[in-house]
Amino acid sequence: MSGETVEPRTDCIRCGECCQGSSPSLQMEDVPILADGFIAKTDVYTIRAGELVHDNIHDRTKITQEEIIKVREKEVGGGCLYFDEVQKSCKIYAHRPFQCKALTCWDLDPFMGVYNGPKASRDEIIRDKTLTGLIQEHERKCNYDRLDGCVKQIETGGERAVERVLEVLKFDYHLRPFVSEKLGIESGEMDFIFGRPLTETIIMFGLKVNKKPDGSFLLTMLDPQQTSTPQGKSLKGP
Ligand code: SF4
Ligand code: SF4
Repeated sequence: MSGETVEPRTDCIRCGECCQGSSPSLQMEDVPILADGFIAKTDVYTIRAGELVHDNIHDRTKITQEEIIKVREKEVGGGCLYFDEVQKSCKIYAHRPFQCKALTCWDLDPFMGVYNGPKASRDEIIRDKTLTGLIQEHERKCNYDRLDGCVKQIETGGERAVERVLEVLKFDYHLRPFVSEKLGIESGEMDFIFGRPLTETIIMFGLKVNKKPDGSFLLTMLDPQQTSTPQGKSLKGP
């Protein structure tokens, strides 16, 4: 022990630790940066109400009751997509989300004040009537309450119940390329428009889907060793 006392931090040294931990979710104040294209819609995804997420702030898994729009994490190594590992800086610093502006790792009060405020949602961002109609139809057919109900019937309902689950998954799966092609929207935006694919989030019900070469889906039980929380945390971690 050197006997030196370490002074508590009082300003940001831009070490990037918070950016490497997780990506931010968007607050209502962030709607303009998404609408104006400073954050690309291909760089975010929607976590829909009813989805199982890991809450970084309280370090627990929970079903979210509200919609969350979140910046994507890096596929390798995790952390925020916009963090430049070489420069150790934010690629969109001037237009970084509200949560990032509020985060001071030595005092979480400002961050929590922002975090507890209203979240951005697709309703505030997507104005195209055709698209909002499609989202409503998708929500009607593929909402998590309905999927939960269908899954619960599997034990007693047998093959017919499995078919009902697969019908929901197939609708979600096939709608995405259809909308991308018909409306000329980048396929990378579909996770923002319709949320994470149900073929991925179905693991929250202890199930997984195998896509067979002939295009059909096979629903099986998840290996208990595999996580049942879909990848992607809902919150920016300090
Ligand atoms: S807020 Fe803290 S963890 Fe984040 S970059 Fe600044 S000093 Fe590093
Ligand atoms: S948007 Fe920028 S500041 Fe915010 S977590 Fe990502 S890299 Fe860090």
